[in-house]
Amino acid sequence: MSDPPLRLSQSQLNLLETCPRKFQHIYLEQLLSPVSPEQLEKQSWGSQFHLLMQQRELGLPIESLLIEDEQLQHSFKSLIATAPEILTPAESEWRDAEHCRTLQFKDYLLTVIYDLIITDREKAQIFDWKTYLQPPNQKKLANNWQTRLYLYILAETAAYLPEQISLTYWFVKLPSKPQSCKFRYNSQQHKQTREDLTELLKQLDEWLDRYNNDGIPFPQVNESSRECNYCNFALRCQRDADSREIEKSRNWLTEVDKIEEVSI
Ligand code: SF4
Repeated sequence: MSDPPLRLSQSQLNLLETCPRKFQHIYLEQLLSPVSPEQLEKQSWGSQFHLLMQQRELGLPIESLLIEDEQLQHSFKSLIATAPEILTPAESEWRDAEHCRTLQFKDYLLTVIYDLIITDREKAQIFDWKTYLQPPNQKKLANNWQTRLYLYILAETAAYLPEQISLTYWFVKLPSKPQSCKFRYNSQQHKQTREDLTELLKQLDEWLDRYNNDGIPFPQVNESSRECNYCNFALRCQRDADSREIEKSRNWLTEVDKIEEVSI
């Protein structure tokens, strides 16, 4: 019996592009990166905010969630004040929170979960709540697989042209008021994303094949990349500071060996 198709989300695609070896460690070997208490606290706040927005959309009580957390209250009220139109349903709209879509692409199942989707006859809008403090620059966000995959899957699975689709990130935890960053989609971007996905997944096919059949590990990011400096697998990958020093002196000795002796 053949294996079930591998499910891939935007996180896996981002990881594959950043460092295939890290993808191997996390998703194939299920090695967990240690999470600091500070990161845990941020993740938990983010989950609470998402739960709050979902409950609100479903018409469930939210007071108990708000009462316990002042920052949550502040972010929620600021978002409502800044963007009342997206939080107030109109009659002509269809809306859904934590909306999941899956698309079969080659041998993979690409999946997304939209924090909120609102559609009407003319357009389909995706919204995503971001709960970290600093909005990344627009170009980085545009190239992130979250942006690309969210837009791509909606265009493939709904009866809207790419030009009718948009994705808006709301950065809700900023100290003053929430800020948004909107991406409108178009057919050219859609074609490009299809090509890039095809290429990336073709590489994944090859890496998986070599890994499963011959035990060859996935490629590591380039040695000069700064990625390893912040990676929890640096020691395992021999990319920690000590291993790099040893590797450097090894390379230096190899270079010295290559220098031809000059006869006097
Ligand atoms: S240490 Fe470097 S090569 Fe290893 S998984 Fe992390 S980023 Fe990739």
